[in-house]
Amino acid sequence: MVVHHSATSVTMEVDPPRNANSPDDPKMANGSSENEKAEDSESSEDGPLDVGEHYLVRRYDDTWHPAEVLHTRFNDQEHHFEYYVHFEGYNRRLDQWVRRDRIMNSRFDISEKTWKQKDVNKISDLLNQSDRKITRNQKRRHDEINHVQMSYADMDPTTAALEKEHEAITKIKYINKVQLGKYEIDTWYFSPFPAEYQKESKIWICEYCLKYSKLEKSFKYHMSQCTWRQPPGVEVYHKGSLSIWEVNSSQHKMYCQNLCLLAKLFLDHKTLYFDVEPFLFYVLCEVDKVGAHLVGYFSKEKDSPDCNNVACILTMPPFQRQGYGKLLIAFSYELSKLEGLVASPEKPLSDLGKLSYRSYWSWVLLEILKNTCGSLSIKDLSGMTSITQTDIISTLQSMNMVKYWKGQHVICVTPKNVEQLVSSEQYKRPRFIIDANAIKWTPKKYNPRPGPSRHSRAQYLAS
Ligand SMILES: [Zn+2]
Repeated sequence: MVVHHSATSVTMEVDPPRNANSPDDPKMANGSSENEKAEDSESSEDGPLDVGEHYLVRRYDDTWHPAEVLHTRFNDQEHHFEYYVHFEGYNRRLDQWVRRDRIMNSRFDISEKTWKQKDVNKISDLLNQSDRKITRNQKRRHDEINHVQMSYADMDPTTAALEKEHEAITKIKYINKVQLGKYEIDTWYFSPFPAEYQKESKIWICEYCLKYSKLEKSFKYHMSQCTWRQPPGVEVYHKGSLSIWEVNSSQHKMYCQNLCLLAKLFLDHKTLYFDVEPFLFYVLCEVDKVGAHLVGYFSKEKDSPDCNNVACILTMPPFQRQGYGKLLIAFSYELSKLEGLVASPEKPLSDLGKLSYRSYWSWVLLEILKNTCGSLSIKDLSGMTSITQTDIISTLQSMNMVKYWKGQHVICVTPKNVEQLVSSEQYKRPRFIIDANAIKWTPKKYNPRPGPSRHSRAQYLAS
């Protein structure tokens, strides 16, 4: 989606999901038109550009953006330099390796600060000139959809310090692509694979046991030997072609570690890779006659003092935006209902995670509200859904259904506004609904593990 506003010429965009055979693929985009060839000759390659400098860089949607060069490498196979760039003001997910022909010859001579200020002014102009008033919720939604990165100045000092440290460690994403089953997937973020894998631009992963290889040859050999056709552990849900397995990390440590390393390629702030023991993993697969193909998963603490029912959640990029994320979220709440607990996902959620949760909570609450006559408290809603009162209040606020009256939150719903919301595109029925009768699971007690809190920041292992 690209929204152009004629008065200000600000471009807001949502990056397409980076699937297999994405047109984002530099090989596909390369030299495909006369226009591009002309630009090739303009930007002659006379030595590598300096790291830390700013240039205008052309993204794969053909728009130019100020960007910082973070790293340089020589691509031995294609015999040219590549540059790892960060687009100013955008989420680091959009950082990418580009060829020299996508970088304008002259340096970008407006200082970063000036440019950011100019950009902020443009966006606020756009918001001010817009016919309708932009509410805080719409602004939040805009920021989430457009991957607007919070600046250090907007954070408290501790968070800013941790963020800077995190960014320094994870700045360069070496592994560009991963082959998983039939999908070649563009990666989004750094992941701490062992050192000898860090310099590879592509790795191969067995979609069943999740073993990784840096050579296609060894991967093919593995596939001819591997007897796995599904995740390890116990199948706890089966309906149609979808299955969910519960994998206990104490019994299948290597699988869980490999799953975390794979997931980190698509999650910015995941902090758990090697210390997987305190967690259970719920792995969603699409099953056909060949095997059970990994679609997504969530992890959950065996014993959560904060009542978190999800630690980390991910739908693999080829399956994103098809309803699988909401299915995983729904399943996590079904488990909480069986445990008799009210729970919430661990924070912070990624920008995509926030959208999925908001959408799931809205749908669940509207389903109840549209079938209710008479009064219902927030506590009642929480008891029925296992969603925390805090999450319920923020969701109802986003739908303008809560008023603060005499010191407390009061739900303020009319049949008409429920009907309007139910019929709107934003709250449509999810594609997949969990069938509670197909769950084969009962709550278990796990012994909490002694020792220091695992809530410290990740230690990225270099080897
Ligand atoms: Zn395997």
